[in-house]
Amino acid sequence: MAEKHVKLLILGSGPAGYTAAIYAGRASLNPVIIAGMQLGGQITTTSFVENYPGFPEEIGGTELVGKMQEQAERFGAEIVYDTAVRVDFSKRPFSCTLDSGDVYTCDVMIIATGASARTLGAPGEDDLRGKGVSYCATCDGFFYRNKKVAVIGGGNAAVEEALYLSNLAQEVFLIHRRDSFRAEKIQQDRLFNNPKIKITRDTVVERFLGTPDGAGLTGLALKNVKTAETSELLIDGAFVAIGYLPNTDIFKGQLELDNAGFIVTEPGLPFTSVKGVFAAGDVQDARYQQVITAAAGGCRAAIEAEKYISLSE
Ligand code: NAP
Repeated sequence: MAEKHVKLLILGSGPAGYTAAIYAGRASLNPVIIAGMQLGGQITTTSFVENYPGFPEEIGGTELVGKMQEQAERFGAEIVYDTAVRVDFSKRPFSCTLDSGDVYTCDVMIIATGASARTLGAPGEDDLRGKGVSYCATCDGFFYRNKKVAVIGGGNAAVEEALYLSNLAQEVFLIHRRDSFRAEKIQQDRLFNNPKIKITRDTVVERFLGTPDGAGLTGLALKNVKTAETSELLIDGAFVAIGYLPNTDIFKGQLELDNAGFIVTEPGLPFTSVKGVFAAGDVQDARYQQVITAAAGGCRAAIEAEKYISLSE
């Protein structure tokens, strides 16, 4: 178990964390990034990014964040491939314990731990996770080539997953609990024009069917919320895409969080309820959750961190 002191510790290796590291590195703060469980963050689960400026042709999510990592490292950021499991903001320097048992103390911290996929909470979901139930089409879609799959949700993520899977699977069913979609118009147009995707509206998943120790997922028990009619859909894979929950468990009792668990920051600013602790990206943004807004948040947090450090030196 090692203990190390750094000026600036950044938690999270998504667009917010890397952008913070690029700015902090250029300000000679020698930032250390604790990568977290998902190197690159959620954007690595997106096949193509079309709306990040500077890339008129689409760019892969993993490729985009990989370039950000390269840029952060070029300016001296050190990446630690470990996960923060405990923080202590009650005394200075702040401390952060990692999964390996190593402890980092720091003068300033930027939290960019992002968010993770929400689960439906329907019976069978937990048991069949990884056995036919997935939360990432770009990660697991490959296993369902020429098979039947369902995507659950009606936002950008669900539509994107359905479109992605339509290139691999034999048939894609999109199950949405309402009749209208939240996804952007351009994505809805692509969805409605895709002959391989069958849309089931006003319908919820009541149960994931199958045997965890046997065939895995075999189908979904569905219910139409308007007619109360129930049905079974036989499929090989189900992709749940119903939004995200902020990764803030380790900050409970240490920082002010809102009712949904997001870190409370001053509007448009990265300041948290503890001086010297800043937050950026999806962990404090329930509204936009875009790569560009996460990157912008990382920039703001690093500029404020630099100011905070220079004023306290
Ligand atoms: P979202 O926009 O919040 O949509 C979540 C969807 O899941 C909604 O359609 C919602 O239904 C449904 N849902 C939520 N809880 C449910 C439940 N318990 N049972 C059944 N359905 C449920 O989430 P998202 O699609 O993951 O996107 C999150 C953010 O990332 C958004 O800001 C989105 O724009 C952004 N994003 C952007 C891109 C892109 O720009 N290309 C790609 C992916 C995500 P209702 O509609 O009925 O509420």
